[in-house]
Amino acid sequence: MNPVLRNCLFYGAGHFSQLPGVRALFAGRAVIIVHHEIQRDCQSELMTGTSVSLFEYSLNWLRREGWSIVSLDECLQRLASNDRSRRYAVLTFDDGYRDNVSVALPVLERNNAPFMMYVPTGAPTRSLQSWWLGLRKLFLLRDKVTIDALGRQFHCSDIRSKISAFDEVRRWIHEDYRRGAMLAPTLEQNGISLAALNDEYFLDERELRNLARHPLASIGGHTTSHPALASLDTLSARAELADNRSYLENLLQLPVRHVAYPFGTPRACGPREERLANEVGFQSAVTTRHEQLHDSKVNHFALPRIGVNGRSDFRARMSGIVEAAQALR
Ligand SMILES: [Zn+2]
Repeated sequence: MNPVLRNCLFYGAGHFSQLPGVRALFAGRAVIIVHHEIQRDCQSELMTGTSVSLFEYSLNWLRREGWSIVSLDECLQRLASNDRSRRYAVLTFDDGYRDNVSVALPVLERNNAPFMMYVPTGAPTRSLQSWWLGLRKLFLLRDKVTIDALGRQFHCSDIRSKISAFDEVRRWIHEDYRRGAMLAPTLEQNGISLAALNDEYFLDERELRNLARHPLASIGGHTTSHPALASLDTLSARAELADNRSYLENLLQLPVRHVAYPFGTPRACGPREERLANEVGFQSAVTTRHEQLHDSKVNHFALPRIGVNGRSDFRARMSGIVEAAQALR
């Protein structure tokens, strides 16, 4: 394809997606949507989650455009039976955040929308090395932040500069997920306790048990300590998946049949993790590869998911045109 036309399609995806016929041409049969925190005030959390207004917009948009919101099990059944009657979406939430219940659940209930929550053991047990929560707290607390491991000092006295500094450190960690642990001394020096943040931000065991009995909720695995599985040896990676599954099944007294790979990128999970997830007894596993589901031949252990990053971005991703344009690049 002509490179000019190709770039035009890529950068104009948000506008093209509103043209009649585009969705019919590019959209897949189904889509799995990934969320983390659903926040009432995103600015005060350095823009790290989805605002409740965007979340409500996305659900209204799905209903208006004729998508069904279904459970992950129903989605997999419909794909397997090649059901082409209606497009369908699955809503998923990673990590077990408390605001998924206090903020998102009332919206889900109003829409009668089933959902899947993927929970790492360390969240309800408060042992999670949730460096992203610690880092956010650090930038919220201080106007001058030194990250020794990165060799950088940030001067950030307003929200904009805090957001940009936080994003820079987060990107640096995402280049090598093991770097998250290198923040521990800095967080400690600044009096930041990850156990206290886990207590504040994640559901506890009693809340999870209650949620698991909600008719719209399903609970899935997300490993014990939320590592990038691909960076572990095979034995440790298998234990991360299997131990988390046993923990959740014991806690909830329910079968746990689905899992989300932490981080979900190609550097965090690949064919070995797909094999391990299958071997320890899961029936599906989701990644964060940003694609829709197109047919019944989809790999159940590498299911793609799309995020919600703004209204026009969401419409463009749901139309399938972003994916089509990316494939051309
Ligand atoms: Zn996660």
